[in-house]
Amino acid sequence: MGRKVAACRDFPSDNGCTLAIPGEEDEVVVATTQHAVSAHGHEDTDEVRGWLRQNLKDEVPTQ
Ligand SMILES: [Zn+2]
Repeated sequence: MGRKVAACRDFPSDNGCTLAIPGEEDEVVVATTQHAVSAHGHEDTDEVRGWLRQNLKDEVPTQ
């Protein structure tokens, strides 16, 4: 299982957030959910977690 990255700029956003969170898939979903709640006013629900998980990208190695 590869590493994933969640990039805020890939999600509909009201504040131009450009945060990117890389890590193992489950870690990224947890961290991104917390960020979505605290920074974007989303709710921590299974629906939101599923939506975030579906929008993860494969992490691109820097070299
Ligand atoms: Zn954000």
